[in-house]
Amino acid sequence: MRCFIKRVNRISKIDLKSLYIEEIEELLKQENAPKFRAKQVYKWLQSGITDFDEMTNIPKDMRNYLRSVGYLADTKIERKLVSSIDGTIKYLYKLNDGEYIESVVMKYEHGITVCVSTEVGCPMGCKFCASGLDGKVRDLTASEILSQITTANRDNNIRISNVVMMGIGEPLDNFDNTIRFLKLVSEKDGLNIGLRHISLSTSGLVNRINELSRYNLPITLSISLHSPFDKTRSEIMPVNKKWNIASLMTACRDYQKVTGRRISFEYALIDGVNDSEEYAEEIYKITRGIMCHINLIPVNPVKENDYKKPNKDKIFRFQKLLTRRGLNATIRRTLGADINASCGQLRQKKEEENIENIQ
Ligand code: SF4
Repeated sequence: MRCFIKRVNRISKIDLKSLYIEEIEELLKQENAPKFRAKQVYKWLQSGITDFDEMTNIPKDMRNYLRSVGYLADTKIERKLVSSIDGTIKYLYKLNDGEYIESVVMKYEHGITVCVSTEVGCPMGCKFCASGLDGKVRDLTASEILSQITTANRDNNIRISNVVMMGIGEPLDNFDNTIRFLKLVSEKDGLNIGLRHISLSTSGLVNRINELSRYNLPITLSISLHSPFDKTRSEIMPVNKKWNIASLMTACRDYQKVTGRRISFEYALIDGVNDSEEYAEEIYKITRGIMCHINLIPVNPVKENDYKKPNKDKIFRFQKLLTRRGLNATIRRTLGADINASCGQLRQKKEEENIENIQ
């Protein structure tokens, strides 16, 4: 833990909202502060404050000290779109350094869910996704991932109870910050969101799935499968050229052995590409022995490719082909259809506007 403070100190100010309570204790030791202050400061930081003076029960000298050594990571609302159909909210956030990310807040019967980004851009280059079009710019810090939740909570006066790490970026490519975020977000003196209410989606970084299993966290691991055949999967998802389906399924089996958690497979249905009976049969074969759920997502068109979503009959037919084989398969409800809620499209538009303004 020491390393985190020292490392940041050498480069710039400390990212205070990314600190664990123990690290804040250590920081405040330099001010001879009593131990209870660390918990108070931690609670303020995790509530999403944007100004040190919001810490009303912290002495002014201590606030000034924190201001002198650290900074408050923030996600400023640049754009907010609210669906008139179902109340889904899509945010375009501006980070402290001027980069943009997106989040989506969705209301379900069981609570309010946020889909968070974990990187600015994404290095994975999946063909059906706007986020991967221009590659990755940088990792998000744990505080920037957290801030997507606290900003939405404050803006709408709500309490988000579920998190899906399925926005812009590959969470396991940003492994250390993802683990730090998971620890912070589930801390009882912080946002206190139970790990069972968190889903982490990966394109299939096998080495990182193995590493994640060592933490044995009760989160839901969600694998972006999209094709059970190496040839098609490699075309849709370049990651498959490094980690093929056989190695991915072995990692899933090993992960399940350690954690005992059901795995979710995400499957973007693309008309005429991966929606035939042959594909359903192969999904059945490769997932044999894995306790899992298949989440069918009719693909969202991106202007850079000509993928189309299958019509309703084809979508239901594919679901039936899976359930008939004993697989648990559901079709994801489309939320925010009127605000173009698919991942990466707002950010991409903003980047294009910025480029036009420079030219
Ligand atoms: S689908 Fe996920 S992993 Fe693939 S490019 Fe988009 S954000 Fe990255």
